[in-house]
Amino acid sequence: MSIPRFLRSAFAGYEIFEIKECLSEQRICLWVKAEENEEALCHRCRSPIHCDGKYLQKIQCMPVMGLRVEVTLTRRRGHCTGCKKSRAEQVEWLSEETPRDSHAVTHRVR
Ligand SMILES: [Zn+2]
Repeated sequence: MSIPRFLRSAFAGYEIFEIKECLSEQRICLWVKAEENEEALCHRCRSPIHCDGKYLQKIQCMPVMGLRVEVTLTRRRGHCTGCKKSRAEQVEWLSEETPRDSHAVTHRVR
């Protein structure tokens, strides 16, 4: 299935690499990861991160035409050169202050 442009533009700097329609459950599932050339920046101080891992984060987005939109983000993490701590990357389209992922489920992946 091709990916509608309005969906792609909603995830600046990230690539939708899989999409699944679960119409019986009125749900669209998207899998998103950073584009290859996108540098990872700390979500706290925006310094570069030396990535040493990734984890999956589930995000509930605004519904589209009555369908729930569930995004599984492969989020990079690593040592922040500014904070000197392990930090998750900054994701522009994900609001940290008012997370849409109040029911977030995270798992570590390699
Ligand atoms: Zn930092």
